[in-house]
Amino acid sequence: MPGAFKRDARPSRRWRGLAAAAVLAWAGAGAAPAADYAGPLFDTHLHYNEEAWNGSSGPFPPAEALARLQRNGVRAIVGNSRPNEGTRTLAAARETREASVTVVPFVRLYRNRADYTNWFRDPSIHEMVLAELARGTASGPYRGIGEFHLYDSANADGPVARQLMALAEQRDLAVLAHVDDVAVDKLMAHTPSKGRETRLIWAHTGIGGVPVARVREMLERYPRLVGELSYRPGLTCEGGALCAEWRALIEAYPTRFVIGSDTWVNQRWVDYDGLMQGYRRWLGDLPPALARQVGWGNAAALFGMR
Ligand SMILES: [Zn+2]
Repeated sequence: MPGAFKRDARPSRRWRGLAAAAVLAWAGAGAAPAADYAGPLFDTHLHYNEEAWNGSSGPFPPAEALARLQRNGVRAIVGNSRPNEGTRTLAAARETREASVTVVPFVRLYRNRADYTNWFRDPSIHEMVLAELARGTASGPYRGIGEFHLYDSANADGPVARQLMALAEQRDLAVLAHVDDVAVDKLMAHTPSKGRETRLIWAHTGIGGVPVARVREMLERYPRLVGELSYRPGLTCEGGALCAEWRALIEAYPTRFVIGSDTWVNQRWVDYDGLMQGYRRWLGDLPPALARQVGWGNAAALFGMR
């Protein structure tokens, strides 16, 4: 109650003692809690799969999905869906335009769940990707391929995996890949530049928790490799703060990390507000300009946006 404060009163000895104790406690805790990041977000790992909305029914029709993006300050997304109709629907939706959300469409390699474990050797997937690229979306041409998964890194050497990596680089398409570090090396080896020119967004930056030192080595080796941070083990510590080794890594590679929701099941749509709040919480631990780069600018630069 500010009005009750007596301006001319000298602080009592007891009050000064309490204030000193509070300062000591604050210093002991390391730092004051940082304010959450409040700028725009670019969700670089969004799925609009058929169980969310199949064009006529589902719990998250475009108005529902877009409302979640809009109320969380998500201004752009990498959209990809099983099957690709979901992305085309989102790209064409009136609600997307009304919410001023930019859809950066990626071709997903999956028509159905069976394709998850077979795409890398199935020639019909290569044909489907070519047809989809030729077709495009209401938000313009596809800008990337993925997300795809490799649960066994040896499958990165499959014939269709090789074809698609070469295609991506030839057509300047980004790649969104949920793979381990060994598979990243293999995929990069299949491109004409051997990974020097490949824009690979590494989904989860190693969901198995590959050591930070190895992530650092890969960022050095592949100049256009970008780490997407959903589900990354060891990223956040107590209270949702950014862990020290990740803070150091992001500060060392300020242009190389992005964030994403990974709405791979409907529960992630249910949790969407909390996911974005979690990002805002730890982005707030970074210097403001760096927080904006990771939350927005790095992904925007990947696709020539501002
Ligand atoms: Zn995903």
